[in-house]
Amino acid sequence: MAILTKAPRGTQDVLPSQSHKWQYLEKKFMEVAGLYGFREIRVPTFEHTELFNRSVGDTTDVVQKEMYTFEDKGGRSITLRPEGTAGTLRCAIEHGLLGDALPVKVAYCLSAFRYEKPQAGRLREFHQFGVEMLGSSAPASDAEVISMVRHLFDELGVEASLEINSIGCPTCRAKFQQALHDHFAARREELCDTCKDRLERNPMRLLDCKSPICQEIGKGAPVMLDFLCDECTAHFDEVKALLDAMGIAYKVNPTIVRGLDYYTKTVFEFVTDKIGSQATVCGGGRYDGLVQQLGGPALPGIGFGMGIERLLMTMEACGCSFPEEKECVCYIGAMGPAAGAKAAQLVAEMRKEGFWAECDTMGRSVKAQMKYANKLGAKFSMILGDSELEQGKANLKKMDDGTVSEISLKNAEEMLSVIYAAKLSDVAESLSL
Ligand code: ATP
Ligand code: MG
Repeated sequence: MAILTKAPRGTQDVLPSQSHKWQYLEKKFMEVAGLYGFREIRVPTFEHTELFNRSVGDTTDVVQKEMYTFEDKGGRSITLRPEGTAGTLRCAIEHGLLGDALPVKVAYCLSAFRYEKPQAGRLREFHQFGVEMLGSSAPASDAEVISMVRHLFDELGVEASLEINSIGCPTCRAKFQQALHDHFAARREELCDTCKDRLERNPMRLLDCKSPICQEIGKGAPVMLDFLCDECTAHFDEVKALLDAMGIAYKVNPTIVRGLDYYTKTVFEFVTDKIGSQATVCGGGRYDGLVQQLGGPALPGIGFGMGIERLLMTMEACGCSFPEEKECVCYIGAMGPAAGAKAAQLVAEMRKEGFWAECDTMGRSVKAQMKYANKLGAKFSMILGDSELEQGKANLKKMDDGTVSEISLKNAEEMLSVIYAAKLSDVAESLSL
């Protein structure tokens, strides 16, 4: 029965003890994105397969080897999204978002699926933050998108360095592709089978091949920067000048080509050596032909995708701080059914006030109830029994220093005023929810 108790290979559960980190990152990401005018978009988990073939490109590893594609009961070919850009652009075109004021700026947090060999930082279901900025061809938009990632990383304390390159436009890239073809064709027989085919269809993809022999042959291959046309050169120079002006450090890495076909001109990666061999936490670039290629208006675009699992791993490795997990504000222990009912009434009132409060739901002894309260890290506790009920009063204990306040049990009013007065950070946080 292991199949029932073992998650599929390459998937990862987020346990309750870890989920606050995800909530924190999601909130931070959308907050920073909001400062740059990106508004959240949510798109389907699956799309028509053709959308990815057309955009990601049918000579890429993603399309050739990694997609989760299946036929649905209606006979359509469907694919679980391997990235977020294609679906986002499809949505923008379908709903006429591009007919409004430009640029259109959207941000997302989504799951993505790729059939890859699972290892640290490489999953079959993973998660991405991303943004897309549509409508501007100006270098200012490249710089803005890149600076947003830097801003987020600085805020989170993530150490990752920025590497940029330009892979030109279709015009200047044609010459580069020819030069690459000549370079690799000289050793055609040694290439892996996939690359023998790519050599004729899209030689640039050979630079992205993971096979050691193809990588070896790729060393010393021509670089795109030597082939850029005047316009692409000017664009790249301007992006660099803007990054300089913003004080954002970068390295030009002429070997970056990115694994998806739709990129043009600027491509970039934020890489870190904190999680093993050089890992890309965030990758992105410009895609000037893509919107039109998908049936939309001839509008340029730029965006990035950021692996959330890799981001979390990097943060752990950098010793970044996360907000503390929430702790229970008050536990009310009770002895006997009448006290249990009173406890339930007070807890319900506190919860309506916005506090995490608890009472027994297990039928445990008072001793066991208090042990559980300690496990929850309850900031306050109280025990109700017959004598407390008779007197209509009980002692509310502040757990860290043992201070005791006698409060009326009529309702939660007195209890709440003691809790408010304690000004616990957890309390403040509970209230802000
Ligand atoms: P890599 O070269 O590591 O395979 P990629 O170029 O395929 O990455 P992109 O398609 O640009 O990656 O996706 C953007 C980001 O999504 C990556 O930089 C990475 O952080 C994350 N990512 C991509 N594939 C995976 C995966 N299989 N598991 C976890 N994160 C991933
Ligand atoms: Mg990949």
